[in-house]
Amino acid sequence: MTDGAPAGPIEELLHEIWQEVAALDSGEVATYIPELAKADPATCGIGLATLDGRVYTAGDLVPFTIQSVSKPYVYALALADRGQDAVLAKVGAEPTGDPFNSISLDEHTGRAFNPMVNAGAIITSSLVAGSTRDEQFQRILAGLSAFAGRDLGVDESVYDSERRTGDRNRAIAYLMRSAGLLDEDVDAQCELYFRQCAVLVTARDLAVMAATLANGGLNPVTDVQVVPRDVVASVLTVMATCGMYDYAGEWLYRVGIPAKSGVSGGVSAALPGQLGLGLHSPLLDPRGNSVRGVAAADLLSKRLGLHLLLPSERSRNGLRRTYRADAVRSRRGRPRSHRDLLDAEAWQIVVHELVGDEGFASTEMLIRAVQDDPRPARWRVLDLRRVTRIDTAGVALLHSLVARLLAEDVAVCVVEPRLQLPKASLRDLPDAVHRFLDADSALEWCETQLLDGLGVTDDLLDGLVPLTQQELLEGLPEWAVAALEERLTTRVITAGAIVFDEGDPADGLYFVGAGQVASDIRIRNQAGRRRLSTIAAGSSFGELALVDGRTRSTRIVALEPTICYVLGPDEFAELRRRDPASAAELVLAISRMLSARLRSSTADVAAFEADG
Ligand code: GLN
Repeated sequence: MTDGAPAGPIEELLHEIWQEVAALDSGEVATYIPELAKADPATCGIGLATLDGRVYTAGDLVPFTIQSVSKPYVYALALADRGQDAVLAKVGAEPTGDPFNSISLDEHTGRAFNPMVNAGAIITSSLVAGSTRDEQFQRILAGLSAFAGRDLGVDESVYDSERRTGDRNRAIAYLMRSAGLLDEDVDAQCELYFRQCAVLVTARDLAVMAATLANGGLNPVTDVQVVPRDVVASVLTVMATCGMYDYAGEWLYRVGIPAKSGVSGGVSAALPGQLGLGLHSPLLDPRGNSVRGVAAADLLSKRLGLHLLLPSERSRNGLRRTYRADAVRSRRGRPRSHRDLLDAEAWQIVVHELVGDEGFASTEMLIRAVQDDPRPARWRVLDLRRVTRIDTAGVALLHSLVARLLAEDVAVCVVEPRLQLPKASLRDLPDAVHRFLDADSALEWCETQLLDGLGVTDDLLDGLVPLTQQELLEGLPEWAVAALEERLTTRVITAGAIVFDEGDPADGLYFVGAGQVASDIRIRNQAGRRRLSTIAAGSSFGELALVDGRTRSTRIVALEPTICYVLGPDEFAELRRRDPASAAELVLAISRMLSARLRSSTADVAAFEADG
């Protein structure tokens, strides 16, 4: 784009930066390769490629020869073809303070210092797969094209021009050969390298190439995996430490994006996980970097806070929320009685919802949320649907979290993310993990398991005695029962469980909705046997505690799956404050029941005495 209104905020930003840097006119066009001297010094182009394949540009997108910007990309091909050990045996990863074309060798190790200086780059080209130089060049051209996402060509006149004048590179190559790092045919080796440098690209291409590195080797425009993911970190490392000649340190300090520049004025900069930048302008500063390219990258990095070492805040948002199924229910329609049960018991189902990158930070947050949970869940749903990427740390830590939960008998449900999972992924989670495509299905499954586990059968629920038919509340006005109902919580008790024990603090008045409990006072009957005193659906217990607030005088045990409605002491106090009339009705009802019990036990005692 050279004029006209920019289409959107990103175009506008690039356009502004382009205008600012186009005004700079210091620097010199490289002339040591005679053809390069013909470049138009006014040219200036900017490209920015996102990791989902959108490319923004500003300025001139004229083709130019890639030169040294080819070095990291060919290094990536060599690593892919030969493996890291074979490459590192000949080319190190140590920055030099020397110029890119220095005729030098790392005397300590007997290797070229790094693949970004000519010595290392000439060796790197020789390592690319191919049984003839021609095949090797085809591999390089196809590789660079795959990085750019289009078929690239070669500028034969620049190639010729460098071949005719490239004696310094030949000198370097001879030195490499003397160290046993290259085979005999030095000339052919140099020609392969010169051809690689003469491949034609635009600022847009350099942006897409960088975005491919930033995207783990997967070209975001074409979706082609150009090099394996695991070579990318090595490539970006040498770009970060050695990519900008003797300005590499200050570049990293100021701009903070791994990059490579070349004598024709190109810069390709890759911000891992975020974007690729391509810059082109032929005027070079004294260190050989594009004056406008460096300035544009600097502006963009400052305005958008792109420095690689700026601590990212994204990682803090990994655990989006944790909720319990008593608050968020599945969409499955259930009868009222089931819903009451879930209100009471579904806190045991916990959902952890994660978003974005699942790396160390967010997985650690998840682990902490599980460990510090004061109410230990029996079901945990890990909702990874909004996770876009799981890295090595995420996979490793999730695996061990899941293993621990399973060992503690917690049912683990994983809601599958939509991403293409990396190799060492969640696919090999233990079989005991239940997998779901969405959180709702996972919740529904947990709810059903919970209801089943409570032994809640439809019969039990069908027979539920409503509050209006509770013995204690018989004859109470409707409004008083309604006021009470609002303040009750439902408790589900499995068969054999202790509802409360002798000496427990009073936690309220219980109405038995379904099932049966027994007080553990064993009464000696006439045959001398002890029997349990049972309390069935429709009856209540625990009312004394409401009245005198003292601890429980007896143990109550559920004889079968039982559902109770409970009025806690706080709710009772609140009822007295807010609705004294209803509270009075309840107190009267309790008094009536207590006096009835007193009369009957007096009668029992009288009968007992008469018998005795
Ligand atoms: N072909 C050029 C050379 O070897 C590349 C150098 C560069 O871009 N820095 O001299």
